[in-house]
Amino acid sequence: MIKDLRGFRNSVRVEDISEEGLRLVFEDIPGLLFDVDDCKIQSPVRGEVFLYRVDKDVHLKGEVRVLIGLKCHRCLEEYIQEVYTAFSYILVPNLSGKEEIDFGTEDIEVLLYDGVEIQLREMFREQILLQIPMRHLCKEDCKGICPGCGANLNKEECHCHKESLTSPFNVLKRLLTN
Ligand SMILES: [Zn+2]
Ligand SMILES: [Zn+2]
Repeated sequence: MIKDLRGFRNSVRVEDISEEGLRLVFEDIPGLLFDVDDCKIQSPVRGEVFLYRVDKDVHLKGEVRVLIGLKCHRCLEEYIQEVYTAFSYILVPNLSGKEEIDFGTEDIEVLLYDGVEIQLREMFREQILLQIPMRHLCKEDCKGICPGCGANLNKEECHCHKESLTSPFNVLKRLLTN
């Protein structure tokens, strides 16, 4: 069964996941990174999840695709990064008394959930944030900004030599020699 939902839902109730599974397709997930500094979503957030139940455990496969506007930490220009990621989880109900979960040997992350609802928003958000590097660089060899004249060295030559008479170093030199 495929449900193509225009409106995003933050969570899915486990009882709504049928035997053959539930597939949800979202055309947009609004407001996902509203509180993240220097990250602006520049396209609809397209997401998809397929869920199926094995007893009370829920197996989830998902993917998400979005364009993110970031500010380069070196040259301060905005640039766009395409984020696409696919992910899998096994969600295990966090029943009282069950403190340890068997993480198994599979390369799938196991998460606890409350036994009633699977939180989708947090999952999509986390997956996108995992794809954004700590250090935002518009390109690997971004030359950055000259600390002397403020020129964006990706686009223009440094002006420091031409302005050397007024550069802070020369001013300092003059002050020191006087
Ligand atoms: Zn840059
Ligand atoms: Zn310069």
